[in-house]
Amino acid sequence: MKKLVGNIQLEAVQGDIANQPEMTAIVNAANAQLMTGGGVAGAIHRTAGPGLAEECRPMAPIRPGEAVISGAHNLPNQYVIHCLGPVYGMDKPENLILSDCYRNVLLLAEEKKIDSVAFPAISTGAFGYPLEAATDIALQTVLETIPGLENVKHIRFVLFGDFDFEVYVERLRRIKG
Ligand code: ADP
Repeated sequence: MKKLVGNIQLEAVQGDIANQPEMTAIVNAANAQLMTGGGVAGAIHRTAGPGLAEECRPMAPIRPGEAVISGAHNLPNQYVIHCLGPVYGMDKPENLILSDCYRNVLLLAEEKKIDSVAFPAISTGAFGYPLEAATDIALQTVLETIPGLENVKHIRFVLFGDFDFEVYVERLRRIKG
């Protein structure tokens, strides 16, 4: 499912964030220590190899909503942008922190002249954010940030589950291009 907004392509795909070879940067739903873990962080660190954790160590810990960038090591990308989402029910206000994540990732990508970025559904796994509410925040924030972007041309959302993918497709369809 693809949607052109201005001259930026928004896209939802179902798949693995660690296997997005055509994207310049992928986003890690990181933990504060920027270490491997379950879900997205586990998949990314497994494929990247131990060099990724080594490169990230001096940048840790990061705060909720903060984004930092590293190389991609053995991943088929150039960069990994690590972002710490809010733990639902704990880090408040969780909607604003989640919005910070998407905005800060895109602003960092823009600064680094990155043309394409793939996001997972940050905070919707171990951190417990309800998928539909998180999707609305993700898409609204991306739409608000798009007018300030010149280098970023392609934003992909990579969803793991069938339901998650369907929610993104339905929400993207409703956006006026
Ligand atoms: P968080 O701790 O921010 O909640 P998780 O990694 O636990 O991050 O989960 C975030 C979302 O990513 C969840 O919806 C989960 O189903 C999904 N997910 C898990 N593994 C992958 C993967 N390899 N690629 C893409 N999405 C994934």
